[in-house]
Amino acid sequence: MDRAVGASGRVCRRCLLEELGEGDYLESVRRYRARLPEKERTPDDVYEARLAACKDCAELVNATCNLCGCYVEIRAARRSSACPAVPAHWGAVR
Ligand code: SF4
Repeated sequence: MDRAVGASGRVCRRCLLEELGEGDYLESVRRYRARLPEKERTPDDVYEARLAACKDCAELVNATCNLCGCYVEIRAARRSSACPAVPAHWGAVR
């Protein structure tokens, strides 16, 4: 099995950027999310719920979703984004 290795050199299944020690990149992700217009930004509680679902998902490897190739912390930031799994692991945003 081919396994991804993050910039930190760690292979980490079910880890987010925050846990991989990707400090600079994580900070840029946080800035990206903070700069999204409020109507486009996923509310905090929903964002956290999305990331919790990703952490429980077998498709998460090195903070990346195997199904779409996105860093999940970026994908989850936009209200309009959806989990690519069928059925989706994220609920609808209210
Ligand atoms: S399939 Fe959905 S829940 Fe799983 S890692 Fe990808 S975005 Fe997250």
